[in-house]
Amino acid sequence: MESYEVYAVRYGTRSARRFDNFVFRDDHDGPMPMDYYVWAIRSEDRAFVVDAGFNQAEAVRRGREFLRCPTEGLAMIGIHAESVTDLIITHLHYDHVGNLGRFPKAKFHLQDEEMSYATGRSMTHGVIRSAYTVEDVVEVVTLVHGDRVVFHDGDDELAPGISVRHIGGHTRGLQAVRVYTERGWVMLASDASHYYANMIQGNPFPIVESVTDMLEGHRRLRRLADSDDHIVPGHDPEVMRRYPAPSKETEGIVVSLHDPPNRTGNCS
Ligand SMILES: [Zn+2]
Repeated sequence: MESYEVYAVRYGTRSARRFDNFVFRDDHDGPMPMDYYVWAIRSEDRAFVVDAGFNQAEAVRRGREFLRCPTEGLAMIGIHAESVTDLIITHLHYDHVGNLGRFPKAKFHLQDEEMSYATGRSMTHGVIRSAYTVEDVVEVVTLVHGDRVVFHDGDDELAPGISVRHIGGHTRGLQAVRVYTERGWVMLASDASHYYANMIQGNPFPIVESVTDMLEGHRRLRRLADSDDHIVPGHDPEVMRRYPAPSKETEGIVVSLHDPPNRTGNCS
């Protein structure tokens, strides 16, 4: 089977504490910052981008640190937003769909359940809608009417070696991405597990639509990846430390997830 290169591009960060990052608290607390990423999947003849990140205005509004436009990070590895044809949206939270307009040729791959969740009854609850930005959701509705959205109802193959997996849990329609690489099957978890520790400890991140679905999602990630070292959590700064940069210029910005991690093991 064709194998793909897979990259994480870090574009934002914020400080946070351990207490912020788990539904079920233990006695430990301390700094536990959060990083923000988009991902890219590439072979000789195709490229997929996974998520679009937030933008500067949204960063200011929500008090996040904006390091660079995600599209600038992608350009550093030769993926230019204006020519991207396929963008997989893991879910519609503000930190995953803030720059869709920068991808004028893209078709956006989205779960049916995520569209109905983000536009339906659940959004009448302030705590649930707070991670969505209404302008983003409206933009996606406009894209649906412009024939730019490809809907998936559950698991689906997008190309040999690339499939979306409907996980739910964090949001009702969250999808993760399974990709075949030269080191085997990698799972881009996105927010099916924000940190390594959420999945390893079986303790979900507190923004959660269904605790059971999220815990089942952790299990599913571990079944679908070749090992725990083949799962890439959605927001863990540890990803930048474990994987090598593809070049000197991209250090601290991009890491190669198709390369074996230089650090493995117990996740704290
Ligand atoms: Zn997120």
